Amino acid sequence: MKAAVLKNLGEPLQVETVPDPSPEAAELVVKVSYCGICGTDLHSTREGAFAAECDSILGHEFCGHVAEVGSGLKDQWEIGDRVTALPFIGCGVCLSCVNGRPFECAQVKLTGMNSPGGFAEYVKTGASETLKLPDDLAMQSAALIEPLAVGLHAVRIAQLKAGERVLIIGGGPVGLAVSLWCQFFGAQHVLVSEMAEQRLALATQLGATGTLTPGATLGEEFGDVSGGAPDVIFECVGAPGLLQETIEIAPRRSRIVPVGVCEHPDTIVPLQALVKELRLYFAIAYTRDDFETVIAMLGQQRIDATAMITDVVTLDEMPAAFEALRSPTSQCKVLIEL
Ligand SMILES: [Zn+2]
Ligand SMILES: [Zn+2]
Repeated sequence: MKAAVLKNLGEPLQVETVPDPSPEAAELVVKVSYCGICGTDLHSTREGAFAAECDSILGHEFCGHVAEVGSGLKDQWEIGDRVTALPFIGCGVCLSCVNGRPFECAQVKLTGMNSPGGFAEYVKTGASETLKLPDDLAMQSAALIEPLAVGLHAVRIAQLKAGERVLIIGGGPVGLAVSLWCQFFGAQHVLVSEMAEQRLALATQLGATGTLTPGATLGEEFGDVSGGAPDVIFECVGAPGLLQETIEIAPRRSRIVPVGVCEHPDTIVPLQALVKELRLYFAIAYTRDDFETVIAMLGQQRIDATAMITDVVTLDEMPAAFEALRSPTSQCKVLIEL
């Protein structure tokens, strides 16, 4: 099969022919229809906590059709089933796996990290982590299930209540997904703070009640637009210094949810969080239930994120599109069509 391969850290991906995957007893092989490019994929191509091995195939936001069924699964899946999968292959029997939290499985393989991912014609998935798609859900929308699940998980962690005011720092795909779910759960004000003009426009198009530009007066501007202070602040950037800035603008007893991935040492002043009795809830990834909820809500057309898709490229065009995302201009979610 053809795949975009990371030959060495710091080098552009290369499209080449690699062996087709073959499934273990409890695995499936999925013919990929679309795979989204994620910030995590970009992280994986550089030195650091997410650095991938040489010859890795990245990509964890995929959907497609079942092409091959593992020997232990014959009755449960049919060739051609439309599916997506959590990008984890767990052991299937531990408490974490049984509870739909394969991310926490001690033996988990991460699809698109240490198990080959969706920047390829075929990808292997764990049957326990694979989910069927509603018939009328467009495949392009299905490629957004993973980033939407990240947003849903964070909003669930925040214990958001209807009527609350929300500030979202960062208008990338994660921030926009968080914004959609905050609207869905009845937040009174959902304001997105972002530097890039196009992303602000996209935030508005996707239903945010207002937008703000980052800066020293962000807290006051939030109050001017929404008539009050934020109950919840989602930090969806993950740059050093931002957590402290968030602590400074957070009102007493508000919740801060760091969702952005910051892999560098960072400094906060705990006293400032202490005197305000702030609650910090870190959020990572998703559960099987998050995926199921996203799929159900997309299937019932109760949530629509298609505006997030700004570019669709072929596998051959993909390495250039991937490099361009290192300094994005108009792009939000870039999909590879296979
Ligand atoms: Zn992702
Ligand atoms: Zn397990």
